[in-house]
Amino acid sequence: MIQRQKSFENEMPTLYLVATPIGNLDELTPRAIDVLNTVDVIAAEDTRNTMKLLSHFNIKTKLISHHLHNEENSAQGIIDLLKNGKNIALVSDAGYPLINDPGERLVELVTQAGFNVVPLSGASAFLNALVASGLKTDEFIYLGFLPVAEKETKKKLEEVRPLRQTLIFYEAPHRIVKTLNRLFNELGDRRMCLARELTKVHEEFLRGKISEILEVADTLKGEMVLVVEGNTEEKRLTLSVNELNALVDSQIQKGMSASSAIKEVAKMTGISKNEIYNNYQHRS
Ligand code: SAM
Repeated sequence: MIQRQKSFENEMPTLYLVATPIGNLDELTPRAIDVLNTVDVIAAEDTRNTMKLLSHFNIKTKLISHHLHNEENSAQGIIDLLKNGKNIALVSDAGYPLINDPGERLVELVTQAGFNVVPLSGASAFLNALVASGLKTDEFIYLGFLPVAEKETKKKLEEVRPLRQTLIFYEAPHRIVKTLNRLFNELGDRRMCLARELTKVHEEFLRGKISEILEVADTLKGEMVLVVEGNTEEKRLTLSVNELNALVDSQIQKGMSASSAIKEVAKMTGISKNEIYNNYQHRS
């Protein structure tokens, strides 16, 4: 059954999702300050971190903890508070809650329980990076952090390699060289923008080819976002199913196994292994 929430035309208690600054504290909006002051409880990813923000704005609202490791239990506690008529604000350490931060399960449960969920606008690092990247913004895919395991990263990058949408990743400085090498190997030497320390005094944008950014990557510090150009290869659009299958056959004739041939054609064309495999399975 459809659920409609007219946020400001009902008396239901509300869970506010409050975006907090990703660096520059001046970016906490008057509306966010007002909500943080007037809710009954603020649920925070890290209460010590949020305490610093609240002290800066002289906000005295009660804080409770809501992090990934206690999300299910804490969500039940928050629902009980809502049932008792309390309004709650959810914040993370920086940017939007739920964007690579806790809150997804909570919002799912709170909406299922029929309470209001109201988002407050603010910064998210990936949007700041995207709009200043100089790359296409009409369509993009936000991928968060790549998996640590080599195999999973490879799979993820193979999936997105053929896509024309701009790709956005988060990364930590100690992994940046490794990650850029992975991007270079799996996606080719695409244009990209590395945006670091957004909204802070050392904010910097490095725009260039992946290989060029790699040359200086080991000197880069701070928080960073990677914005990578989507696939621009025309081949992706012009190959028919029959042409793809013929390419696989020609690799097999050279002595490759079917799976190696599919892998090779994926590399040649930028088309995902899955897509080639499916086409090849159902060839006439
Ligand atoms: N919820 C946050 C958001 O909405 O952007 C993201 C939280 S995630 C745990 C932290 C990652 O976000 C960092 O490792 C970095 O990749 C990115 N990030 C956060 N603040 C940033 C900043 N000021 N400049 C660049 N990247 C930032």
